[in-house]
Amino acid sequence: ANGGNMDLLSGLNDKQRQAAEHDKGPILVIAGAGTGKTRVLTHRIANIIKTGKAKPWEILAITFTNKAANEMKERIGQLIDFSIDKMWIGTFHAICVRILRRDIDRIGYDKNFVIYDTDDQKTLIKDCIKEMNLDTKTYNANVIRSIISNEKNNRNMPDKFIAENFGNFNLRNTGEVYSLYEKKLKIANALDFDDLIVKALKLLEMNEDVLESYRERFKYVLVDEYQDTNSVQYNLVKILSKKTTGESNIFVVGDEDQSIYGWRGADINNILDFEKDFEGAKIVKLEKNYRSTNIILNAANGVIKNNCQRKGKNLYTDFEDGNLINLIETDNEKEEAFMISALMRKEHNKNSINYSDMAILYRTNAQSRALEEGLIREGIPYKIVGGLKFYGRKEIKDIMSYLMLIQNQKDDISYNRIINVPRRKIGKKTVDTIYEHARRSEVPMFEASYDVLELGLTPAATKSVQDFVAMIEMLMIKKDVMSLSEFIQAVYEDTGYRKMLLTDTTVEGRSRIENMEEFLSAAKDFEERYEENSLEDFLSHTSLLADVDKTDDTEKDCVTLLTIHSAKGLEYDTVFVTGLEEGMFPMIRKDDEEEDSEEERRLFYVAVTRAKRMLYITYSNERMVFGHHESRHKSRFLDEIPSECFEESTPQSIAEKKMKSFEMNNLFSENKSYSNREVKSGHSFIEAKNKNLFKGAISFSDNTNYDSEKRVDSPKLKSDKLAAGDKVMHKAWGIGTIVQLSGEGEGQKAVIAFENKGIKNVMLSYAPIEKV
Ligand code: ATP
Ligand code: MG
Repeated sequence: ANGGNMDLLSGLNDKQRQAAEHDKGPILVIAGAGTGKTRVLTHRIANIIKTGKAKPWEILAITFTNKAANEMKERIGQLIDFSIDKMWIGTFHAICVRILRRDIDRIGYDKNFVIYDTDDQKTLIKDCIKEMNLDTKTYNANVIRSIISNEKNNRNMPDKFIAENFGNFNLRNTGEVYSLYEKKLKIANALDFDDLIVKALKLLEMNEDVLESYRERFKYVLVDEYQDTNSVQYNLVKILSKKTTGESNIFVVGDEDQSIYGWRGADINNILDFEKDFEGAKIVKLEKNYRSTNIILNAANGVIKNNCQRKGKNLYTDFEDGNLINLIETDNEKEEAFMISALMRKEHNKNSINYSDMAILYRTNAQSRALEEGLIREGIPYKIVGGLKFYGRKEIKDIMSYLMLIQNQKDDISYNRIINVPRRKIGKKTVDTIYEHARRSEVPMFEASYDVLELGLTPAATKSVQDFVAMIEMLMIKKDVMSLSEFIQAVYEDTGYRKMLLTDTTVEGRSRIENMEEFLSAAKDFEERYEENSLEDFLSHTSLLADVDKTDDTEKDCVTLLTIHSAKGLEYDTVFVTGLEEGMFPMIRKDDEEEDSEEERRLFYVAVTRAKRMLYITYSNERMVFGHHESRHKSRFLDEIPSECFEESTPQSIAEKKMKSFEMNNLFSENKSYSNREVKSGHSFIEAKNKNLFKGAISFSDNTNYDSEKRVDSPKLKSDKLAAGDKVMHKAWGIGTIVQLSGEGEGQKAVIAFENKGIKNVMLSYAPIEKV
């Protein structure tokens, strides 16, 4: 066994081995990126089992993401012959669920408790607000959800919160909501995500015997990415690992320079204070990096040394200097995406780098859209980690459904998707009724909606459907008089979608708004780039992008797109870090705290240190934000990287620019028959080809929707015959009297007073109106 042991640890250097073999007592491995912390942790576990110090089920290992947990299991499995199934390796949440399932009855819950996700939480909070007769405008469920989460993580119970905020009427009520929310959770035998950790801790604190059983069981406790634990998580680790004798076999690895979850309550002091909390703790520092080239490390060191909150360490490597970092300045995010795609292709073809060994990192999810389009256009396979591809996101699908329905009212799929999104009190029963009617009369559901008066629905439902139809009709009019981007903005607002997103102040909610803004930017950009920029053109363009989505999972060799937060702990041969612009990265404003800028700097440090061999950094002088071109300045972080690390990059003169685009064209000519310019000026080969495919598949060219037929032959007739005072019948609004006519021909409008619907403005050529 000893020989095997030697083998096992022979892949570690002396310091790493010291840490892996460390026998009893607390130990902290504090070390920079790529120094082998995770490697030491897995080897340590394997070594403990192999040398018989503990059985697999006597080890508790905590990681930060499910992906990391699975990877860890795999790596350990490769090192030893034991079955790893009985090992407790998982995220904080997973471990806590396990603990709670066994003994939660000890704190008054049933063992078959349910776990409420964010949506469930919101629903429950809304119920509370309603029950307490509070104004839903003042008391927003999302805001209250964040407050409750925050309070739970600080272990503040409702009573305490109420007492602390007694003088503040609104906060006191919020506290009452929190209180009621807790009661309802309890009645439902439910726990929310924050509860999982808080209740597990409570269970252990209040039940000596349960706690002891775990303390006895877990001979070794190990935590990866320790710098990102928040205070409840920290306390949980502490209570589980610290025996009554004071002894503690806790092994944590972390890097204070990679603490990037401050906004979620992670406390960098957990790592800085480890020595205080665990007396006699052994500290091992690793400085030798096995991941990256010297130049990449010099860049990382140069950046991170500007932070004050750190223990201070320098990374070095025995590797060679390696390639200079390629700093790329572009005119806009399109060019950024194009350059990246071209360079990826070059790395792939010239340097034989697999696509799966390349990654594009960005600060915010919204950046992915332009990047994805670039990759799709250049035919580079990609996948997105920890997020849906841009065109697969719910909000984007929703807005696309609106556009598709407005374009083609026969589209029942889109109709169904958005009829009640945002909520407009059109329930399942109503939709079913309309569906049945449509089926019987063999018409699309939208057309069937015009007959809503005959369907025997409640007056409220009837009105909701009429309003919906009127809204879509109005948008159909707007479509023809507005530019594409104006029109999509109108859809975003008129449908109430924007309002719905604005009420959601959670992180997810805000990212949905960012995505929508990004979508509007895409539309604006499309409009500027293409002459044929009607809604139909745009839809065939974007639907194509959305469709590419579905195929990628089967693709093995593809590049990875991910946020820097989700790239933590990972490594790639070739890394592109994008958007190095003030306001984007660092993502802070002038008056933000110094602390925030330090966290942003740590994030940049994480990004840079993901690269093994080749690092590209991009920034753009202009970026489309919320549909506007915004000029950008390059990030302060770039000035912190020693200039000798960069490939020479002087401000580009026009001549150089020409040269650049010439080179890019050459780069492309290896594989493609078209160039950058051609893409910009019209349809590329791939686009043209796919467009045809698309038309075949979804019968887009079949433009015989019933409304456009009407448009062709009825307008003139109508306006010729109609006059103020005439009575008309509108398909959805019933009988009305024309009050006023204005405009001419196709643009002729009428003000009509409907008997039951009040006064409406309609475009005569499009409104489903008959003279009676
Ligand atoms: P991060 O801070 O980014 O999580 P880390 O400190 O956990 O990094 P690892 O991911 O464990 O670092 O290691 C980085 C890379 O270096 C891995 O590819 C690992 O296999 C390799 N490595 C670490 N130590 C050694 C060693 N002694 N010999 C050879 N390769 C090593
Ligand atoms: Mg690691």
